[in-house]
Amino acid sequence: MAKPSGPHASDGASIRLDAVGFDFGDMAMHFDLAIAPSSIAAIIGPSGSGKSTLLNLIAGFETAKSGRILIGGQDVTHAPPARRPVSMVFQDNNLFAHLDVAANVGLGRKPDLKLNNADRTAVSEAIRKVGLAGKEVRKPEALSGGERQRVAIARALVRNRPVLLLDEAFASLGPALRHEMLDLVGNLQEDTRMTIVMVTHHPEDALRLPSTLFYLEHGKIVASGPAKELLSDKRPSLLRKYLGVKDSDL
Ligand code: ADP
Ligand code: MG
Repeated sequence: MAKPSGPHASDGASIRLDAVGFDFGDMAMHFDLAIAPSSIAAIIGPSGSGKSTLLNLIAGFETAKSGRILIGGQDVTHAPPARRPVSMVFQDNNLFAHLDVAANVGLGRKPDLKLNNADRTAVSEAIRKVGLAGKEVRKPEALSGGERQRVAIARALVRNRPVLLLDEAFASLGPALRHEMLDLVGNLQEDTRMTIVMVTHHPEDALRLPSTLFYLEHGKIVASGPAKELLSDKRPSLLRKYLGVKDSDL
């Protein structure tokens, strides 16, 4: 049977972490959260608070010691990464230097690059959507940092998964480029309706897109809600303290 295609092929899935426990040595983490399908969640918090671990638990790169993880209502607590309906983009996007843009994107579709016509169409469509049309045969070294992240996003798009995880994916870009990439992610989200979970160092990123904010400290979510409310003047005092620290860092 043909795979669904078109703008809504990857409608978003809900994400639920139900009393999920995990630890690294003496760092005990505990996550309870619910993310609505087709919404954008922004994860912020100090370095070492467990943001990447939270994404890795959702992606399956780490396995919960207790509790349950549900994606789209399916229990994936013990499913390997390949069996989970998610794609992930990292800060270091691991493009293959010897492969051109089209091939790097094609890997998201078929790891052996044996692409059929439908795959090739999906690859060109994704390249167009991330604004790289005309650069299909460039190698990563001939792209800017922002363009390389666009390739990584296109590679995630051709996987057609209902959840996209971004772990500080734009952290190495300057503010203007970062904002441009966030706008791209916002447009792609409107187009595909995928659920997005993004870790960011910059609270203003959570305001640029209509997102629900989750603030982590010491392996726990200590505040959550609409980013607009949490980042308003009436924000919780612990968040104010974190933001104060960030402000003086800038
Ligand atoms: P963040 O992404 O918020 O900076 P992480 O999720 O990477 O935080 O890390 C959370 C905690 O887990 C930190 O205390 C970190 O030192 C520890 N940690 C992360 N990865 C590992 C690992 N592979 N082995 C042991 N400890 C780890
Ligand atoms: Mg991290």
